[in-house]
Amino acid sequence: MDSNEWIKKLGDIAEAFKSFSESNVDITFLEERFVGKRGELTLLLRELGSFKPEEKKLLGAKGNELKNKIVSFCESKKNLFSGFKEYHYDIDITLPSKKYNQSNLHPITITLNRIIDIFQKLGFSIEWGPLVEEDYYNFEALNFSPDHPARDMQDTFYLDLKDDKNKNYLLRTHTSPVQIRSMLKYKPPLRIISPGKVFRSEAIDSTHSFVFNQIEGFYVDKNVSMADLKWTLESFMKDFFGSSAKIRFSPSYFPFVEPGAQAEVSCVFCGGTDKSCRVCHGSGWIEMLGAGVMHPNVLKNCGYDPNEFSGFAFGAGIERFAMLLLGIDDLRVLYENDLRVLRQIF
Ligand SMILES: [Zn+2]
Repeated sequence: MDSNEWIKKLGDIAEAFKSFSESNVDITFLEERFVGKRGELTLLLRELGSFKPEEKKLLGAKGNELKNKIVSFCESKKNLFSGFKEYHYDIDITLPSKKYNQSNLHPITITLNRIIDIFQKLGFSIEWGPLVEEDYYNFEALNFSPDHPARDMQDTFYLDLKDDKNKNYLLRTHTSPVQIRSMLKYKPPLRIISPGKVFRSEAIDSTHSFVFNQIEGFYVDKNVSMADLKWTLESFMKDFFGSSAKIRFSPSYFPFVEPGAQAEVSCVFCGGTDKSCRVCHGSGWIEMLGAGVMHPNVLKNCGYDPNEFSGFAFGAGIERFAMLLLGIDDLRVLYENDLRVLRQIF
C-alpha cells in the first residue's frame, strides 16, 4: 500500500464514521467498528509500520486526528447518557399510576349498536337519511295528505327554506322518510333498518323530548304479511330481552300502514306477576313500538304495484330500549351527560 492508497482509505473511514454518527447508532458499536482492537482505523494505523519515517509522521498525524475525533465523540455521547444513572433509584415502579377518566360509548349508542347487531343477523341492512327533510318524504309520500289530521300528532320545526321548486322543509318527525327514499332508490326485495335522530315540537319531561332517536325497519317483497312482521319483531325481542320475550299486537293508527298496530313485549322484568313492577305496573306488557303492513298508497307512491308487492314497517324509540336496558326511569338522564350518573351506568 502506498501513501495515496492509505490517504484514500482514511478518507473512506472518515466518511463512514460521519454517516454513522449522524444516525442513532449504538455508541459501543461505533467504537468497536472504528477504534476498537480490530477497528477499521486501528488496523489502518498499524499499516504505517511499513512506511518511511517522514511519511509515517505526516500520515500518522492525519490518522490520529481522526482517531481523537471518534474517541471524543463516543465519550461525549456516553457522558450524555450516564446522567440517567443518578435517577435510576428514584423511580418506584410499584406506585399506583394517576387515574385518568376513561371514555366510553354513550348509553344510547350502546343500545343502538345492540339493536343494529340483532337486525343485521336477521338480514337487514342499514340506510341513513337527512335530518332536514322535505315535507313530501316526511308526510305526503307516507300517505299524510296536506291537511291530514294525523300531522298534528307529529308537530315539528318547519324551516324557512324555499328553493326554486318551492318545496317545504322541516326537521324530520320520524325515520319513516327513509322508507320512501330507499324504495325509490332500490328494487325489492328490501330488508332495511334506518336509525337516527328525529324531532318533535314537544316540551321536555321524563318521557318526552324535542329530539330523540328512532329506528325504522321495513321489509318489502312478494307475499309479505303481518305474520312476517310478528316473527321478525319476536325474534328481535327474544334476542334483546331474552328468550322468554313474547309479542302482542293491539290495533293502532298510522297513515302509512294498514292494518296498523302497537306492538307490546311481555314484561321480562316481572313476568306479569308483580303488581308493583315499575316497568309494566302489573299489566305484564310493555309498549315498545308502532308497526303495520305497508299502506298500498305508500307502495304506489314509490312506483311499486300493490298487487304484486307487499311489505311491513315498524318504528321504535331507541331511548325506550336504553331506559329498559339500563333501568333508567327518566329520559333526561340520557341527554344531560352528568358524569356522576354515567359512571353508575358503566
Ligand atoms: Zn313487569
